[in-house]
Amino acid sequence: MKIAVLPGDGIGTEIVAEAVKVLNALELRFEMETALVGGAAYEAHGHPLPEATLQLARQADAILFGAVGDWKYDQLDRPLRPEQAILGLRKNLGLFANFRPAICYEELVNASSLKPELVAGLDILIIRELTGDIYFGQPRGRRVATDGHFPGAEEAFDTMRYTRPEIERIAHVAFQAARKRSKRVTSVDKANVLETFQFWKDVVTEVGKQYPDVALDHMYVDNAAMQLVRAPKKFDVVVTGNMFGDILSDEAAMLTGSIGMLPSASLNASNQGLYEPSHGSAPDIAGKGIANPLATILSAAMMLRFSLNQPAAAGRIEAAVKAVLAQGLRTADIFSDGTTRVSTREMGSAVVKAL
Ligand code: NAD
Repeated sequence: MKIAVLPGDGIGTEIVAEAVKVLNALELRFEMETALVGGAAYEAHGHPLPEATLQLARQADAILFGAVGDWKYDQLDRPLRPEQAILGLRKNLGLFANFRPAICYEELVNASSLKPELVAGLDILIIRELTGDIYFGQPRGRRVATDGHFPGAEEAFDTMRYTRPEIERIAHVAFQAARKRSKRVTSVDKANVLETFQFWKDVVTEVGKQYPDVALDHMYVDNAAMQLVRAPKKFDVVVTGNMFGDILSDEAAMLTGSIGMLPSASLNASNQGLYEPSHGSAPDIAGKGIANPLATILSAAMMLRFSLNQPAAAGRIEAAVKAVLAQGLRTADIFSDGTTRVSTREMGSAVVKAL
């Protein structure tokens, strides 16, 4: 089982170290190799996704990724910015399906910004298409930015685009995931305004006919954003495009208490995957040893389940995370009165001990 370890920037290095510690505590053998990515790779090699890092990722069964980015790179030309490394990995490895479970742990109901009764027992899965939509639209190249901005420009635009096969394959992923849960899919679109999403809705409906045992409904993205904070437990599997998924999954993250708790998996057609926390590099708290490593540790569990075929080990990690929460251990982002505040490292060590 070959794992490419790409810690990245900011808190990325701190949280990935804890996930590696947890993996090493299992009675399994992994071949792990670490490489630079994002701003760290730009500093060392002049590019956020150096060829050597891409090769390592290609040859691995799975990639354990931290986070990339820092405000100090905002002035760079867009192709050199740290975030391009993620887009490059997604595109090069064909990682089209992004799984973002939003689970509210019983112990954290009070950390949510919503009333406990709205989030207690919440367990929804947002499936975001990851390699199409406006983030990969044309024509990027016509931009004439010199420093990443557009001095004197009167206009800027990005185009939204989806092809039938792109929508079909993500729809299949969603229906198949729903079959293993409560057999409901909500497809989120903006079909009332955007041609791209009328097409999306039509194609998802067609694919849905192959899954008569799964209930499908459609919702406009503005309504979905509202329903997610009004009655989030009404959802089961939500499938949507790249941009809407980006926004809705962060919104769903907060329902669970902290973005520091949320893992994610991005898979390609052969189940090779990139596993990362849903959050970014958090430059505001980097280096302080206070970041929550649980999203990354839970991402490692998803990696064991989806790409490395080790469901029992995945279950053990998830149970260990629940155990440390039940012990009352909390990093600063999920701390509340009556619990014990711990550092990033202490949280990682507690998970190892619980294992
Ligand atoms: P962010 O997710 O990094 O941080 C948002 C807020 O959540 C911050 O207050 C941060 O301190 C907090 N936070 C995030 N992760 C946490 C954790 N594990 N524990 C405790 N608190 C945590 O988002 P941002 O501030 O908008 O972006 C910062 C940088 O990260 C930017 O350069 C952005 O482009 C980049 N980014 C990268 C990714 C990625 O690597 N996949 C995703 C999103 C943003």
